[in-house]
Amino acid sequence: MKERLSVLARKRGLNEEEIRMLEGRGCLQELAEGMIENVIGVMEVPLGLAVNFLINGKEYLIPMAIEEPSVVAAASNAARIARLHGGFATKMDSSCMIGQIQLVGVDEPLKAKARILECKDKILERANECDPILVKFGGGARDIEVRVIDTRLGPMVITHLIVDTRDAMGANAVNTMAEAVAPMIEEMTGGHVYLRILSNLATKRLVRAQAVFDKEALGGESVVDGILSAWAFAESDPYRAATHNKGIMNGITALVLATGNDTRAVEAGVHAYAAIKGRYSTLTVYEKDKEGNLVGTIELPCAVGLVGGATKTHPKARLNLKILGVESASELAQVAAALGLAQNLAALRALTVEGIQKGHMSLHARNIAIMAGAQGDLIDAVAERMVAEKCVRMDRAQEILKELGG
Ligand code: NAD
Repeated sequence: MKERLSVLARKRGLNEEEIRMLEGRGCLQELAEGMIENVIGVMEVPLGLAVNFLINGKEYLIPMAIEEPSVVAAASNAARIARLHGGFATKMDSSCMIGQIQLVGVDEPLKAKARILECKDKILERANECDPILVKFGGGARDIEVRVIDTRLGPMVITHLIVDTRDAMGANAVNTMAEAVAPMIEEMTGGHVYLRILSNLATKRLVRAQAVFDKEALGGESVVDGILSAWAFAESDPYRAATHNKGIMNGITALVLATGNDTRAVEAGVHAYAAIKGRYSTLTVYEKDKEGNLVGTIELPCAVGLVGGATKTHPKARLNLKILGVESASELAQVAAALGLAQNLAALRALTVEGIQKGHMSLHARNIAIMAGAQGDLIDAVAERMVAEKCVRMDRAQEILKELGG
């Protein structure tokens, strides 16, 4: 860890205080009390660094906060393979979020819809009065869409307020605007507004990443075919797709957490998007190119920010953003997409070639050793013996520990 930190300090110009913070000294003790309620302490997770990422021609070191072994190694390995064909190409269309305003109690829903659309300019103007700072940064309410939906309690008129939240994730910004325009919508329709809240299904904040994974580096044609088969299985079967997408989120959630963003918001959006065609499916697509290499593509909504929430108040989140070196929320989302694709490719390759347990269990062996009571140098000694014996189990760890005098 010391060696890694000194390389990182050189590469990213970190000062001694920042290094100390990474080494594990708590930085939240007092701040935590102001962040949530009934605080009794802080919960730590390891912070790793995914390497080899080349995204749109730029080098990235990606901080990942995660307790699961093998995830950081797998992402770094897939990124190394992607580099052979130029790394990841990514794109994000817009940084717009959707605020929903639920209107009930109107006799003629379609008439109410038309009335709301007629008053679009007034609604947008009122919304933008709420957040002059966002407007100053080039964001703000951009548009409205109105849907009439059938529910078990009858039709409801749902207004979508489309807000460009720029470098903010935007939940608070959008919720404030939705609450501000709700009385206008009631007044112009004679109906009653209940909910005024952001939708986490951020379909106007989609991000895409693509990479070519070299056939030979993957292990040859049969591995490419195996990965394609694994993907086709997941695409057609929600039981498999859930685990396929969980692997993608191993990477994305770790980055979202490391940067102080809202993991639940991103995960809710991602899984809802995976089911948007009416059946839960995969976020990635794979195909072969003319040379037989594997081309992977991922598309997902990714509402993350560089300002707002804990991104600015959590000192380590700020430091992680510095290590990552992104300049906008859009760039952060694009890195997340590339990381998700890398994670997925690595998992599918491992599943296809050797089963997931071989690599996973050898990295998990240290956890088992710790669970068995090993400390200090004995952790590696016990783990190495279990891996060599191909028996990574708690009972064996305890026996080895005893033999070694632990
Ligand atoms: P926020 O309100 O703390 O910060 C956003 C504000 O920062 C903007 O409204 C703007 O006024 C200002 N700002 C300054 N510079 C900016 C820039 N360059 N670009 C954009 N805005 C800039 O946070 P937020 O992003 O509105 O909300 C995020 C928080 O809301 C998270 O903590 C999340 O957990 C929480 N939250 C989420 C949900 C949900 O996901 N459903 C619901 C409620 C709250």
